[in-house]
Amino acid sequence: MRRSMKLFSAAVLGAILGLESAVLPYSTVLASQPTTYRAFEVGPGLDNLSAADEMADYQWALKNNGRIRRTQKYLNIDSLDSIYVHRDENGAVDQVALPPIGPGNFATSSTDAVAGIDINIQPAWKQYDALEQKREIIVAVIDTGIDITHPDLKDAIWVNSDEIAGDGIDNDGNGYVDDVNGWNFFDNNNSVYTGSDDNHGTHGAGTIAATRGNGGIAGISDNTYVKIMPIKALGTSEGKGDTQAVLDAIHYAQANGASICNLSFGSTHSDETIAKAIKDSKMLFVVAAGNGDANSVGYDIDKNAVFPASLPYDNVLTVANLMFDGNLDESSNFGVQSVDLAAPGVYILSTCADGKYAYMSGTSMAAPMVTGAAALLYSATPTATLSQVKNAILSSVHPLDTLSGKVLTGGMLDVDAALRALLGTK
Ligand code: CA
Ligand code: CA
Repeated sequence: MRRSMKLFSAAVLGAILGLESAVLPYSTVLASQPTTYRAFEVGPGLDNLSAADEMADYQWALKNNGRIRRTQKYLNIDSLDSIYVHRDENGAVDQVALPPIGPGNFATSSTDAVAGIDINIQPAWKQYDALEQKREIIVAVIDTGIDITHPDLKDAIWVNSDEIAGDGIDNDGNGYVDDVNGWNFFDNNNSVYTGSDDNHGTHGAGTIAATRGNGGIAGISDNTYVKIMPIKALGTSEGKGDTQAVLDAIHYAQANGASICNLSFGSTHSDETIAKAIKDSKMLFVVAAGNGDANSVGYDIDKNAVFPASLPYDNVLTVANLMFDGNLDESSNFGVQSVDLAAPGVYILSTCADGKYAYMSGTSMAAPMVTGAAALLYSATPTATLSQVKNAILSSVHPLDTLSGKVLTGGMLDVDAALRALLGTK
């Protein structure tokens, strides 16, 4: 019986269980290190993904052999038990006392991983690594800032070679002084990393392009060719941003050579100027579908639109969040018109601020999976258009019954199949 859970907000429950948590755009921080999260068991359940990246064993999204189990504790208290309820003379409840909480008040449930529920990256890497011709591509991560000195990210960060650092001059004449690695539209300066407020963007960047083979985790795309342009438009640990910052960020990305934008944020309020900027752009926008309502229950964004996820434009790819058992996460939004496909987004291990690693969950983590895949695909072909890259991803999804009627393609990201579709290889 879980009926009493409704009496507690997620934040209160988290505090009772002693978990670290924070509210972030389309994500939840679960723990600072994989081994300190007590409420579920994970890893090392995966093997031989990327031998030189010791944390890659925990990246179930990239290779899932079914050996992970999530065990969740939840409060199991009948708070309406008569001893906790005081009634007035008319029999109406006028006071409810919180019951004491002991070990007997917790129950557990578990979810087992299913082998093969992953993005099938390993054969794609093999194919990509063997290609003779690859091209460079810039991916804008419009988000919080990014820890650009993180050991797993420092080689992945875009460098504006036309700008001279620290001379106080806008050398390239793009309107921004000393924008050597991007721009901070939240604070209106050139600091694309400000500290722990920047976990969210740092996490997405790691999924897209963390260095493979140098310790830590493995990123999806190869940062020899794929560079991340950090554009800070969200600030504070709540990840709030404003319309103008996002709008300026999109324009900056476009003007400075980005081809793909990762947008792991959104709002229930539409904004015409942002919609127009996306519609008029040549870039491909990979967008998180959103993490449900105030109770973190996912809903149909065809009926109740979320922006920019619900925008109907050809250059928008919207991504739902898949759990490692092949079900959409309970919190993930969906929509057979608005949401294109699903990708792993629960217990995703990636880079965080201050050179750290952390698990985070949400559609914010699912979108960068598709962004990383799109970047790898674009880099793999000298001539493919972004539209062809998008179509290759959509036409080659791994179909799942659980996604039928929930997302346009009825499937999850399959990078190897997409690469084969794009290259015409078998
Ligand atoms: Ca400049
Ligand atoms: Ca690494």
